[in-house]
Amino acid sequence: MASTNKIIAIDGYSSCGKSTLAKALAERLHYLYIDSGAMYRAVTLYFIRHAVPLTQAEKVAAALGQIHIDFHIEPGRTRISLNGEDVSDEIRQMYISDYVSEVSAVKAVREAMVAQQQRMGKNKNIVMDGRDIGTTVFPDAHLKIFMTADPKVRAERRYLELKGKGNDITLEEVFENLAHRDYIDTTRAESPLVRSEDAIILDNTELNEAEQLQFVLDRL
Ligand code: C5P
Repeated sequence: MASTNKIIAIDGYSSCGKSTLAKALAERLHYLYIDSGAMYRAVTLYFIRHAVPLTQAEKVAAALGQIHIDFHIEPGRTRISLNGEDVSDEIRQMYISDYVSEVSAVKAVREAMVAQQQRMGKNKNIVMDGRDIGTTVFPDAHLKIFMTADPKVRAERRYLELKGKGNDITLEEVFENLAHRDYIDTTRAESPLVRSEDAIILDNTELNEAEQLQFVLDRL
């Protein structure tokens, strides 16, 4: 029997506000929210800690076999754990952002994460955000959104967010990081960031959070 669960896929460039929108949608619709980027960040943290060389396939495979990622839903927020350790804050650090796209471009890493994401979406109503959700993870998603925004506006938003959390960082560093990740994410061989033909484009340069939420609700 065909599955009746509903999936909303939100893809797009770095720091477009995908997770803000995905969380708001999940809350409004009582769906489960899954942040696929957090999974790639957790893998990156493990690879850095264990100095896993990306070019050595056996070492990458062995490391992936040691990685267990779980999400824990708490009131108002979701936490992610890596082998039982809550890494939700650590994975937002800049040293992870600087390396995560290199790690995410590795085929075996993608295969492992996509398999886990597909398992998590089985028989559940979910909102998942990332780069390849509508193209690779859930090509049959009920609704696909492709988010974009002016790169300067994206960098400013992320800069203010990181500053607000006490990070010692400049606007230029944030801008460079976003440009670097977008470049790798859109040019990698393995499921690059591209708009699925059936995805609706949402440019939120001039939209606030309530407006972008309404934009999607109107299309359900
Ligand atoms: O969503 P977030 O910006 O936290 O994702 C971090 C990085 O993880 C992205 O820049 C991208 O390289 C990678 N990613 C990916 N595929 C996904 C989600 C994230 O390659 N579905």
